Amino acid sequence: MSDPETRPEPIAAPRSETRPEPREDPTDEVARRVAEEAEQRLGDIEHALARLDDGSYGHCEVCGRPIEPEHLAERPSARRCALHVSAKNAEN
Ligand SMILES: [Zn+2]
Repeated sequence: MSDPETRPEPIAAPRSETRPEPREDPTDEVARRVAEEAEQRLGDIEHALARLDDGSYGHCEVCGRPIEPEHLAERPSARRCALHVSAKNAEN
């Protein structure tokens, strides 16, 4: 009982006709931001790994003093001590 003539043709709803192209999808923007942030974090981590290699990891890039352990624990990729981490944001 598989006569193709008796099978009703599936009617596809013409939805795509009235639907506009989602050019400015807000989720695109969010995805882009998330990707950018992830890339930045990855860069930070790679930088931290490079500093682990040359032995400067855990020391402030500005004053060269050891970064506070609690600061490093909170943000392992930190490049500056608590004193200079805010100065970085002000400069850039
Ligand atoms: Zn410092």
